[in-house]
Amino acid sequence: MSTMHFKPGLEFARRMDREDPLRDFRDGFYISDEDLIYLDGNSLGRLPLRSREKIHEVTDLQWGTRLIRSWNEGWYGKSGELGDKLARIIGASEGEVIVCDSTSLNLYKLAFAAMKYQTGRKKIVSDNLNFPTDLYILQGIVEQLGPGYRLELAPSGDGQTVNMEALDQAIDEDTALVALSHVAFKSAFMYDMSAVTQLAHQRGALVLWDLSHAAGAVPVELNRCGADLAVGCTYKYLNGGPGSPAYLFVKKELQEKLVSPVWGWFGKKDPFSFELQYRPAGGIRRFLAGSPPILSMEAIGPGLEILLEAGMENLRKKSVTQTEYLVFLYDEYLKDIGFSLGSPRDAEIRGSHLSLQHPESYRICKALIEPKETTVKIIPDFRRPDNVRVGITPLYSSFEDIWRFADRLRDVILSKEYALFSDEVEGVT
Ligand SMILES: *Cc1c(COP(=O)(O)O)cnc(C)c1O
Repeated sequence: MSTMHFKPGLEFARRMDREDPLRDFRDGFYISDEDLIYLDGNSLGRLPLRSREKIHEVTDLQWGTRLIRSWNEGWYGKSGELGDKLARIIGASEGEVIVCDSTSLNLYKLAFAAMKYQTGRKKIVSDNLNFPTDLYILQGIVEQLGPGYRLELAPSGDGQTVNMEALDQAIDEDTALVALSHVAFKSAFMYDMSAVTQLAHQRGALVLWDLSHAAGAVPVELNRCGADLAVGCTYKYLNGGPGSPAYLFVKKELQEKLVSPVWGWFGKKDPFSFELQYRPAGGIRRFLAGSPPILSMEAIGPGLEILLEAGMENLRKKSVTQTEYLVFLYDEYLKDIGFSLGSPRDAEIRGSHLSLQHPESYRICKALIEPKETTVKIIPDFRRPDNVRVGITPLYSSFEDIWRFADRLRDVILSKEYALFSDEVEGVT
């Protein structure tokens, strides 16, 4: 990546935008405020215009007019249909992915099922960079499974990355499951999925990947890497909408061997027989629990189609260029005024967001979001203790957005505008 030649200044950013083959995808999103630079698509993706139309169609036609008949006109098969679409984005096969529930709940179902299957082994391995809900769910599982079960966290040496030696130490003959985020939510560190999966398999452990910060951001090849299980959310880089249902992946060979700990009627063989005894459905549907939230679920499709049209390889290329550009701007404008880089410098091991660390990060974010001295509002997010986290979403992030962000960040520091804000942290950051 050292072959990229960036130049400082807004003109260069505009030239990059003019030459960007993906630039027209931005027009497919609802953008109501041209003075708003949105760099938080890794927390909540923007609204695709096609999803807006879809939601109207679902309410007026499917719910309003067709009523219950809609279950047989598409709703019932929707979880699997969306799963098959998503499978093409994360390198899985048809019938291996299904959309349902939340990421937290899907992680619970798959991790619990894996632990039950791996009789005799009592350890789960994760790392201390993982997203808190993942660690909480795993803590709950070892507690519920009983004496001897435990969770071990491979430590990050530098607070940003986890090296293979740390995993090598943690994964042993007692390890049933290795559960990791493919891309870390704070630093954007990205594991070598294939190498980690191989290591775990050599020791007889299964691997469960959380793809929340990876799917739609980087190319993922679950099948090629031999991955066993995966989960992830659809409201970040997949642009599925706030609280949209998540997904889960179980590789074909494991599907009939694992049983969900939540025995709901949607995961039962032939649910409309209404028989009294539970028997798991065949295939991926056995990991469903109950009725899906149709309005939210129907809004997911268009976001997936847009990603497939753009192509993950093309998106990755632009994403790497854009994160490299931001690192360049950091070196030029931000390093000398108190920022440090909270993400790996090497794009090969980095996802599509970037963290910049500064002791005043919280108030800096406030100043960007609710500026007092300019009309340009910029939305990144704040991640404790000191990160300004910047989500780069190549479907709609422009080089000009990134340049303006760096320029404004420098202003906020040099003018001390951040000092006008309180440092009391609010509910959702
Ligand atoms: C966003 C995210 C989640 C979110 O879980 P929910 O159940 O949707 O709240 C979980 N894990 C990771 C790694 C995430 O990035």
